[in-house]
Amino acid sequence: MATQRMLQFVSTPKETPQKRTAEDRRDDFEEIYREFAAEKASEQASRCSQCGVPYCQAHCPLHNNIPDWLMLTATGRLQEAYELSQETNTFPEICGRICPQDRLCEGNCVIEQSGHGTVTIGAVEKYITDTAWEKGWVQPGKPAVERDQSVGIIGAGPGGLAAADRLRRAGVKVTVYDRYDRAGGLLTYGIPGFKLEKPVVMRRIEQLEAAGVEFVLNCTVGEDISFDAIRGKHDAVLIATGVYKSRDLDVEGADLPGIVKALDYLTASNRQNFGDDVPEFDDGTLNAAGKRVVVIGGGDTAMDCVRTAIRQGATSVKCLYRRDRDNMPGSQREVQNAEEEGVEFVWLTAPAGFTGTGKVEGVIVQQMRLGAPDASGRRSPEVIEGAEYVEGADLVVKALGFEPEALPTLWNVPELTVTRWGTIRCDHATHMTAIPGVFAVGDIVRGASLVVWAIRDGREAADAMLAYLDQPASMAAE
Ligand code: FAD
Ligand code: SF4
Ligand code: SF4
Repeated sequence: MATQRMLQFVSTPKETPQKRTAEDRRDDFEEIYREFAAEKASEQASRCSQCGVPYCQAHCPLHNNIPDWLMLTATGRLQEAYELSQETNTFPEICGRICPQDRLCEGNCVIEQSGHGTVTIGAVEKYITDTAWEKGWVQPGKPAVERDQSVGIIGAGPGGLAAADRLRRAGVKVTVYDRYDRAGGLLTYGIPGFKLEKPVVMRRIEQLEAAGVEFVLNCTVGEDISFDAIRGKHDAVLIATGVYKSRDLDVEGADLPGIVKALDYLTASNRQNFGDDVPEFDDGTLNAAGKRVVVIGGGDTAMDCVRTAIRQGATSVKCLYRRDRDNMPGSQREVQNAEEEGVEFVWLTAPAGFTGTGKVEGVIVQQMRLGAPDASGRRSPEVIEGAEYVEGADLVVKALGFEPEALPTLWNVPELTVTRWGTIRCDHATHMTAIPGVFAVGDIVRGASLVVWAIRDGREAADAMLAYLDQPASMAAE
């Protein structure tokens, strides 16, 4: 019966949840996709051909059991679908919203490869868990038995939170330290609401609190409390601090007022949407309203900045990127969304300097062409000598990527070894660093990556930490 309901991809065309029109979504920070209706979710799930070797699952970093939860959704067994989905993913409704599915699960779906259009896996995953929240199936992960061991987690982003959830369910006392006033890391202050509405993140944090996870916020490790003090308080420690040092530009005029960092700009916008007092937004420093905005960069952060500027009421928004559309790191889906909303992409351009007296007035734009592929396999941009022009700008946002902060120096722990890129060195299977009992996950290990990878790391590290805590004290100290 169940299998008869499946394999509908030939007769049922692919449909994504309805996308709000560009006119409708340009003025607010609400998500741009509407929810699937129950019938539509079931119909779309039924398109899956139930592959014996599911490539979708192999290419999902969490190895979610996609064919099974699609089959359960198609046959109306939603609660079972939810139970199965949350077994491998701590935050399925978040991944359903913001994973770059075109590069992961959906990009590898066999019916996409055969030209029928992928199963809309992310939208179904979001639908299953949003329904579970509505129906009250998502409950705090309170442990059956308490243990007398405690773990300190530094960083309340998806990596730290995924580990906190798993450790708490196993009965460990968990304290999460974060320098911000709200938990969530980049889910809260980096990623804009039009991709991930904030109540979706906040309700997860409330659930963790209800399960007994303690949050110590407004607490910068290395300033308000030392790393050694945290080690002294807990039986094991997890570092999940992400990467926050912005790459910069070394050209004339780069320090003019009006040239700002992407994360400062996005954080101010997210805070403003929370209703916080944001003086730098109110005085115009981090507000695009009425301005000609130029964003520099071609990754997902740049995409978030251009689309934020549109919503703040910029008069024009241009994105300069040194390669072309095919060679950009950002998701094609996001470029399309940005173009629909009125962003202009100026491919094969880079800033050669900035003009202005007292504040930025223009970007000196250097035109580029593509040469031979570099080490990453992408074609390297080359300068076209003499091809420059000035693009007028009142606000310039630098979205050039992020690097790790120098934690061993900042925290005075030279024994915490790092790679030549400054990311923390740790064992790939256990996530344990060079210091016994200290583990690390997420962007601070991988460099700027994805939420789904941080969740995977957090879950794996939690299991390794439990094994570490179960060792006799003499072995753990080795
Ligand atoms: P983070 O989320 O960065 O969390 C780290 C936490 O540690 C922060 O809360 C920080 O305050 C805290 N911290 C740092 N240092 C200290 C200290 N010394 N003391 C106390 N606390 C500290 N990924 C996707 O999958 N999809 C997307 O659409 C997407 N969009 C993105 C958009 C933007 C603008 C950015 C910047 C990133 C985006 N990413 C996206 C990437 C994704 O957000 C990250 O890969 C992910 O959040 C990494 O998780 P993490 O837990 O390692 O670190
Ligand atoms: Fe796809 Fe991400 Fe969900 Fe995995 S977690 S199934 S990659 S949307
Ligand atoms: Fe279904 Fe596509 Fe996964 Fe095959 S690859 S199991 S068709 S979702």
